[in-house]
Amino acid sequence: MKKQTTYENLFGEVITVSNKKGNPLLKSFGKGPEGERCKNCKHIYRKQYAGTYYKCELRGNTNGPGTDHRVNWPACGKFEKGED
Ligand code: SF4
Repeated sequence: MKKQTTYENLFGEVITVSNKKGNPLLKSFGKGPEGERCKNCKHIYRKQYAGTYYKCELRGNTNGPGTDHRVNWPACGKFEKGED
C-alpha cells in the first residue's frame, strides 16, 4: 500500500493524506474543537449503495474505500457544526 494518497477536493485544493489509521485531515488542517467528532460536522455525508459509506467533502470522493470516512474520527480544523 502506498504511504500517501493525493486527492483534489471539491474546491480544487490538492490534499495529500497518510494512509495510516485515523482522520487523515488532521495532518492537513490540525485538530478541531476538543471532543467534536466528524459525525457532527456539516462536511460529512452518506452514500448508500449495497452498504452505507461516509465521505468528507473536503477529502473528495474516489468512489472507493480510499476516501471512506469514519464518523467517530476526531474532528479536524475545518470542522463546522452541522444541523442536528
Ligand atoms: S471535521 Fe468535518 S471537515 Fe474535518 S475531517 Fe471531519 S467531516 Fe471532514
